[in-house]
Amino acid sequence: MENFTPYPHFGTEALHAGQDPDKWISKAVVPPISMSTTFKQSGPGDHAGYEYSRSGNPTRQCLEECLAALENAKYGMVFASGLATTTAITFLLKHGDHLISMDDLYGGTNRLFRQCTTRMGVEESLVDCTEVENVAAAIKPNTRMVWIETPTNPTMRLVDIEAVVKVVREKASPECFVVVDNTFMSSYFQRPLDFGADIVMHSLTKYMNGHSDVVMGAACTNSDNLAERLKFLQNAIGPVPSPFDSFLVNRGLKTLHVRMREHMKNGMAVAKFLESNPRVEKVIYPGLPSHPQYELAKRQMRGFSGMVSFYVKGGKKEADIFLKSLKVFTLAESLGGFESLAELPSVMTHASVPAHERAKLGINDNLVRLSVGIEDEQDLIDDLDNALKAAVKE
Ligand SMILES: *Cc1c(COP(=O)(O)O)cnc(C)c1O
Repeated sequence: MENFTPYPHFGTEALHAGQDPDKWISKAVVPPISMSTTFKQSGPGDHAGYEYSRSGNPTRQCLEECLAALENAKYGMVFASGLATTTAITFLLKHGDHLISMDDLYGGTNRLFRQCTTRMGVEESLVDCTEVENVAAAIKPNTRMVWIETPTNPTMRLVDIEAVVKVVREKASPECFVVVDNTFMSSYFQRPLDFGADIVMHSLTKYMNGHSDVVMGAACTNSDNLAERLKFLQNAIGPVPSPFDSFLVNRGLKTLHVRMREHMKNGMAVAKFLESNPRVEKVIYPGLPSHPQYELAKRQMRGFSGMVSFYVKGGKKEADIFLKSLKVFTLAESLGGFESLAELPSVMTHASVPAHERAKLGINDNLVRLSVGIEDEQDLIDDLDNALKAAVKE
């Protein structure tokens, strides 16, 4: 693989940032799960940093500090889900503001903007942000937020974060901020704040926690102003995760670097296997030189995840047989866990996208999305091979 250098100290930060045993009287090496909803004050208003568990919790704090370190951010805040995070971020906007978002966003984000945010009087423009000129053309005097996702789901198109930030700084109001949903890459492979983005958002549910057992989200930023407002919203709106879930995600982060290296190795092996397979029409993986934005991928990312999309030869029937024939891959939505998953976006994750838009984006009935897990590489390839043979007659 080409020279992908990990961010310096990443593994060390994942293990130690925010985890200092000296902060506990017990000197616990692993942060305790602090279930208490309230904290004793020595005089009215005189507390040790925690008052009530919605506004701050010791276990959650360990996780937030660790996340901030991994995104090279000053501040990290967690929320009850990825979408709860996005909701809190949209509360930075007000009636009459305008937002620009990527046209093939994660379906839930798209639904939130279209059916909830706009009902509160925020205007939205859906834009193909892979061409930065489209972003420039969509900017209005009242544009206050630009929301991008890279790579996109499931078609793996990339957005040049640095170029989008540049055009926003040049053309938009100084109050306009850029948010990058970094869920597909995890902090291990991509750091949007390093390219000038204002907020990086995660569904921690996916790679960051990595064990498919917690729903949670995060926002990280270097801006004192945005952090202060988000911290206020975290408490004022109240979509906070439980201390137990905070403990689990904090624990998941301890192996993020190890897991991501394995996801990349298996993802690359699967992508190459599929690309050379006569029963496959086309593979979309940013780590393959055949990806139309391979150069941008190498510039912006420090590696590639386990997300691989491909078109099975044939149509819906072949895709159905293929998915039903898999034995190691589980047919299920979601992604980023240790286990391999496969799904059909047109009828599963992207069913809510109108058919004509799916067609425009290339989400056809033979497009399969894989979240390649960390099982043994050969078992995954054998599984795909058998299922392809069952589905597509040569
Ligand atoms: C899953 C996901 C979300 C939403 O996160 P939840 O934790 O499910 O609320 C947002 N963006 C992307 C890219 C996702 O994959």
